[in-house]
Amino acid sequence: MAAHRLTGCEKAYFKLKQQLTNLRPGYAFSTAESIFEATLGGISCFGAELIGPDPSIDKFRLKFWKSHFELKTNAPHDALYYLTGSYPLHFRAIKMQLQFIKKLLRYPNDSLLKAALVDSVMNGVKRKKVWLRRALKHLAVVKNFSWKSSDILFDELKNLNVTKTMSLIEVKFQETLAERLRANTARSGRLFFLFQVYPKRPLTATRLPLPPYLLKALFTLLTSGHHFRIETGRWNGTAHDERLCPYCDVVDTEEHSFFVCPAFEPRRQLIWSKIENLRPEWATLKSSFFNVLRQGVFFTDTDKELLFWITKFIYFVLKDARDVHNGTLCLLPYLY
Ligand SMILES: [Zn+2]
Repeated sequence: MAAHRLTGCEKAYFKLKQQLTNLRPGYAFSTAESIFEATLGGISCFGAELIGPDPSIDKFRLKFWKSHFELKTNAPHDALYYLTGSYPLHFRAIKMQLQFIKKLLRYPNDSLLKAALVDSVMNGVKRKKVWLRRALKHLAVVKNFSWKSSDILFDELKNLNVTKTMSLIEVKFQETLAERLRANTARSGRLFFLFQVYPKRPLTATRLPLPPYLLKALFTLLTSGHHFRIETGRWNGTAHDERLCPYCDVVDTEEHSFFVCPAFEPRRQLIWSKIENLRPEWATLKSSFFNVLRQGVFFTDTDKELLFWITKFIYFVLKDARDVHNGTLCLLPYLY
């Protein structure tokens, strides 16, 4: 049954890709997401009541995100969950299985289904194979009990509140995710800049009022899919301190390229000329950059315009950095 679900997802994903190619170019993320839900949403939970959640299903949405935002296949998954604010796809199956268990417990004692559930819990906890093992493990972690004891487990199940349990599982997921992000940032990993931009999880990164090509540029930057040396140095194992800017004698970080490097000064000046009067209190391009991206909602035209120009700046700097990396562009010819 689990294998059927996986094959079903493979087929649905293929269908999804076909449907997306029929859309006109530059379709919004929300459109793609609706088609994802319609093709993969249900199939990904197929049989979840009995076979339970299977984390291998999660890869389909990760693949979908990477393909939509044109990200590298090695784009960090933590960054994608952080930016989209989504939970792993298999969480729905946990919910379905917990709801099913709750329903079965309401059956009369002499019903076959309830007997099967009781038997499964009583005997199953001692064995490795139990049909509701996966969901119960999640329940045990968030409710902090040993699911290996059938008595405790039954007590917990009797009072099971599925909605509450699911929010506990989700909170736990967010906490662990933030912890990993902090650890990655502490060792200057690939999520370092993402965490500088969003020390708190953004609520609406996928819903930003932006044309799709600018949203893609933002996602590329925040998933470390750019061509600054801090990233390209990783590809060939260059030591962190030796990933120097092609134009300056300092480590080529995102922050260096966007706000310091003279190579991008013309880009900076152009964008600053567009935005300097929109929010004078922000004073610099750097503060505008972080303030705009961290803003949760964009109600006014000024907010939208600022967001547009800041992401346009990102788009151009990423493009230039890629061209420099590929050897098709030299930004400061007088240096050579
Ligand atoms: Zn530089």
